[in-house]
Amino acid sequence: MKKSKTSTFLLELPLVVDSGQAKRLRAHFEAARCLYNALLDEALKRLHQMRSDPRWQIARTLPKTQKQERREAFTQLRQQYSFSEYALHSFAKHANCTWIADHIDAMMAQTLATRAYQAVNRICLGKAKRVRFKSKGRGLDSVENKQNKSGLRFLLQRPEEGNEGYVLWNKDHLSALIDWNDPVVKHGLGQRVKYARVLRRKASSPRAQGADCEGDRYFVQLILEGIPYKKSKHMVGTDTIGLDLGPSTVAFVPREQEAQLVPFCEDLKPDIRAKRRLERKLDRQRRANNPQNYDEKGRIKKRGTHRRTWHNSKGYLATRRRLAYQERKLAAHRKSLHGRLVHQIISIGHHIHTEKISYKGWQKRYGKSVALHAPGMFIRMLGRTVASTGGTLHEVSTQKTKLSQYCHGCGKYEKKPLSQRWHRCTCGIGPVQRDLYSAFLIAHLETETTIPSIAHDAWEGAELRLRAAMEVLHQRAKEGQTLPGSVGISRAGARLPKSLANTHLELVYRRGRLEALRQEQGHTATR
Ligand SMILES: [Zn+2]
Repeated sequence: MKKSKTSTFLLELPLVVDSGQAKRLRAHFEAARCLYNALLDEALKRLHQMRSDPRWQIARTLPKTQKQERREAFTQLRQQYSFSEYALHSFAKHANCTWIADHIDAMMAQTLATRAYQAVNRICLGKAKRVRFKSKGRGLDSVENKQNKSGLRFLLQRPEEGNEGYVLWNKDHLSALIDWNDPVVKHGLGQRVKYARVLRRKASSPRAQGADCEGDRYFVQLILEGIPYKKSKHMVGTDTIGLDLGPSTVAFVPREQEAQLVPFCEDLKPDIRAKRRLERKLDRQRRANNPQNYDEKGRIKKRGTHRRTWHNSKGYLATRRRLAYQERKLAAHRKSLHGRLVHQIISIGHHIHTEKISYKGWQKRYGKSVALHAPGMFIRMLGRTVASTGGTLHEVSTQKTKLSQYCHGCGKYEKKPLSQRWHRCTCGIGPVQRDLYSAFLIAHLETETTIPSIAHDAWEGAELRLRAAMEVLHQRAKEGQTLPGSVGISRAGARLPKSLANTHLELVYRRGRLEALRQEQGHTATR
């Protein structure tokens, strides 16, 4: 599809569906699934034919400096083997002739063709290794249109007619639940609808509210023109912030205001635990139902000439549904936590410097934590929100700056092992927590430079603020909360660097600003 020139945002509304409508919706989705698989198959076939042409290999060996020739060679091949979005559109027209056409109109078939083409094109470009066909069990759970004039579309009554919203699909009127008191919904429905998308999601059980007899809920997603609603409670600050994002913590150090080191997505813990419990239950049930597929050590047996068969009990299917529901709940919760943190950061300042991280590398190193916390998603969200307030998100290359090795006191670079969580230099800088220190350095990094410019008194003030950030964490550790290991505070607090552990510091605020740290005993201010 051509990229839209106007800005876009989404609004999602639940649909009220009776049992007859649900039955027809299921049939529509099943037809969409079959058509999508057929399109995927055709696109793959064309790709394989194109790649087995000898000219493809010749085109590949053309040096990348000869851009023009390379492009021309590939374009010619794509044309000859009809491997393009539009060629697949016209294929969809023919594939869509039989019973499927009763469910899926030409426009929707085109959107499915686009989707299939994009999936296969990722293989062609080397961005993916394979495509997924949609199985009958899992199904295809979203379909969309291209415009809001015919076919699947959303209609909103005028206020004098009752202000209600409907999704029209084939002959069904599906009414949408609209909460007019919600400013986000109200703002969204005031904008032009570009097109609508219908989604099907698994509820926790068929008895859940709004679910049909199969336990599915339906939603409409409106693709709207304009910008999303901005809550007035969100303030925008003016400071420049250095941000250091770790797999389980986030440190942000503004140039002037209070610094913070906080665990990343801490409130997700109960959700993660619940998910893990369900996963284990599912595994137990799978083993109990299929003892023939496991050997005496509990490993899955090697497959012989026959396909392995799996028996799914009712209890197993119920657990699988609950797990799917739990996973979605976790994703939604994570998104809201990310949003909260983004607004917390932006309320301090909207010029943000951070290190550019290779999330692929992270996934390899800290797979589980990254999958659960989605730091890449967080950075994208931060970038979007910062841009909408007129700020900047500046991502610095780690290879060029090497800030994690840098000491601004003596200007030397020294590699630290990952287990060393504190920066302490012979030149007298430190001890200071490593993540906070690198966030501080990056806050003072101007664009297009690799060495941060830090005035002497800037460090003096900052050192206090960084210590204050650690003090908050010490307090929490003392209260018995477990913190991520990367923070550098062990549970008993036994491995604290000497100078911090000996002098127990307390924060002094004057006129709301942090001025100094004073000793707890005697309560005499140090300055
Ligand atoms: Zn130094």
